[in-house]
This record gives sequence, structure tokens and C-alpha cells, in this order.
Amino acid sequence: MNGSGVRLVLLGKPGAGKGTQAALLSAHYGVEHLSTGDVFRAAVAQGTPTGLEVKHFLDTGELVPDEIVIRVVDEHFAAGGPLEDGFILDGFPRTLVQAEELEQVLDGHPLDVVLDIEVPTETILHRIAGRRVCVNCGATYHITHPPTVDWTCDVCGGEVVQRDDDTEAAVSNRLEVYERQTVPIIDFYKKLGKLVTVEGVGEGSEVQERLIKEIDGRFQPGRR
Ligand SMILES: [Zn+2]
Repeated sequence: MNGSGVRLVLLGKPGAGKGTQAALLSAHYGVEHLSTGDVFRAAVAQGTPTGLEVKHFLDTGELVPDEIVIRVVDEHFAAGGPLEDGFILDGFPRTLVQAEELEQVLDGHPLDVVLDIEVPTETILHRIAGRRVCVNCGATYHITHPPTVDWTCDVCGGEVVQRDDDTEAAVSNRLEVYERQTVPIIDFYKKLGKLVTVEGVGEGSEVQERLIKEIDGRFQPGRR
């Protein structure tokens, strides 16, 4: 892309469709989709000193501390990563400290825009708390679109259940944590004049069109 790729951050509640949209935008603009999980797994696979530290936290199920998250992202970019080619960050920054540090990591390659995919809490609860998953193959269903036969997977015949993470109580808890961590990030990007809120309700393709419209309105191809 020779230094002309778009540089984006996507924000959105758990269940807002952020990962799906990031993948679609990555294909549309031809830039790398960087989810924190992917960057973590790559660091672990490479066996770098930072990767080993990350592995410890992933193995124990503890939250990876800000300082290490930032270092992993920084090392990813420094190793000939997509800083100049453009990228879509999904799941990072997750805290205000990470957002502030990201500005340093970007090293003169500012973000073009930060998109907040807005979906009402009620909609998220309906989406996630209604979700049912096949224990065998992972196929997902919804209480409004169940398998054809009695909660038996259409794909493999496995049992279709609600995951513990998807109960209303668990989702409410995740949303609370998200709000607490993300409101300061949103304020931070508002002050930088980078934040755009995009309506996240509707078909995935409609949401994608809205996102592309906002990005194209702010991104000048060819800038470095
Ligand atoms: Zn199945």
C-alpha cells in the first residue's frame, strides 16, 4: 500500500459486531485487521520475550496489563508491521492509558478516524442473551432462529445450548466493564477530533456502508 493505507480504531460494545465489521473493512481497504487476540497469539507463537510474558497471562486467564499490551502492539508495528501500510485496530485500545500510549506508538502516523459502533444495550442483550451455540461444532443460533429440530444442531446433530458467558447477567456485567473503561477513551478521541459515532443497528452490510462513508470522508489516500 506504500504508506497510503487507512489507519483506524473500531470501538463498540461486546456484541456490537465490531469484529465482523473490522474484517469487512480490512478486505475493503486492503489493510491489516489487528485484533488484540491475534497480536497476542502471534507474539506467543514467535516466542519473543514479550510473547512469553503474554503467554503467562493468557495461560492463567488473567487480564494482560496495559504496559504489556502496549509493548506487544509496539513490537508488532516495529517489526515491519502495518504502521505505514494502514491497519484496523479491534479490541485495542481498551483503556485510557492504552489510548494515550498508542499516540506514542504511532510515531507520527496519526489515526485517520476512530469509529464507535453504537448499539443500544437492549439490542445487545437480545443478541447475546438469545444466542445458542452447538457444543460440538460451534455453530451459532438464536432463540428467534433455532435449529430445525428441538435444539439439535442442523450442521452436526450436536446439542445446542446457551454458553455461561452469554447469560443476561454475564452480558450485563461485561457491558458495565466496557462502559467504565471506554467512556474515557471516547472522551479522549473526541478531544482529538477523531471520534465518529456510527449507528450499529441493522444488517451488517448497511452498517458497513455507513462506516465506509465516514472513513472516506476523512481519509485522504496518498497521505503518509
Ligand atoms: Zn453442530
